[in-house]
Amino acid sequence: MTVAELIKSSDKTAFSFELLPPLKGNSIDKVFHTIDQLKEFDPIYINITSHRDEMQYKDTSNGLYERKVIRKRPGTVAVAASIQHRYGIKVVPHIICSGFTKSETEYALIDLNFLGIHDILVLRGDNSSRDRFTTTSETGNNYAIDLVNQVNALNTGQFLDGTLLDAFDTPFSYGVAGYPEKHEEAPNMDSDLYWLKQKVDAGAEYVVTQMFFDNAKYFDFVKRAKDMGITVPIVPGLKPVTLMNQLSVLPKIFHVDIPEEFAKEMRKCRNNDEVKQVGVEWCIHQAKELMAHNVPILHFYTMMGTQSTRKVAEAIF
Ligand code: FAD
Repeated sequence: MTVAELIKSSDKTAFSFELLPPLKGNSIDKVFHTIDQLKEFDPIYINITSHRDEMQYKDTSNGLYERKVIRKRPGTVAVAASIQHRYGIKVVPHIICSGFTKSETEYALIDLNFLGIHDILVLRGDNSSRDRFTTTSETGNNYAIDLVNQVNALNTGQFLDGTLLDAFDTPFSYGVAGYPEKHEEAPNMDSDLYWLKQKVDAGAEYVVTQMFFDNAKYFDFVKRAKDMGITVPIVPGLKPVTLMNQLSVLPKIFHVDIPEEFAKEMRKCRNNDEVKQVGVEWCIHQAKELMAHNVPILHFYTMMGTQSTRKVAEAIF
């Protein structure tokens, strides 16, 4: 069954979570350890993020800077395959536009097809840390909708160079991202929903949201999406807060609000152990309310820390 079919056939709220491929040079054991800590909660699928390359500038002794291009977290496809092979759990690798040419994307899709991995999350990807604004690429896809179109073409047997798949069409099934608090670059929510609808109309079978800490924003988003004609499931993304500095870091990076009621509790904490406790309690409160509204899945951003996600899962599943 595809993720979309699993979502539709599930009669109670299921658990899923997101993992990052290891930093270059590190072993895959940390990925396995994370799964070992969470597998008892019966994840319906596991997402594996994808990361673009980055420029690094090194100060050299002659006063000049040396520029290096590095991909800090390569290996999304291989990590997905090894999880599927080791645990038999459905995997959803992320496929992104930024940092990849269309050809590289096609090769990744061919590899995934050979591996029997046909569920993917299609995204534009983060900007390079060097670019404040998105730069367009001649050889790559610029928006998620362009990548959706590339996947759709492959699903009907067409490669980029015009070669045709003679034996079969690829059966990729995919979800896309949505933003209950609006994507940072969108001029307004209606415009952001307009582009979300383009992705859904083109074939996305479900939407996974950016993390949010105020359920009212998710409920409002779902309603506005429905009003626009977006009828596919919208999976809420949750993150248990674990560090005091996330009070400012999460709004800065992910463009999300932290409700004052929650922020006030965090400010009372004397150390990060207390923050973790408050973060878990808030996340349980969010999860219970979402479950009461029959959301199909609760998707957790683990950021490779399992302790808090475990505590939330223990309390709700
Ligand atoms: P898009 O749908 O392309 O939208 C980007 C912006 O452009 C929006 O403001 C939209 O309104 C607008 N827009 C869309 N299409 C058009 C168009 N044709 N013309 C003009 N404007 C347009 N990042 C990573 O690098 N790796 C990951 O693994 C990753 N995983 C993620 C998982 C989830 C669930 C989420 C929510 C985000 C994830 N991200 C990841 C971050 C994401 O890639 C960034 O937020 C990115 O800036 C936007 O991605 P998108 O797919 O929503 O882009």
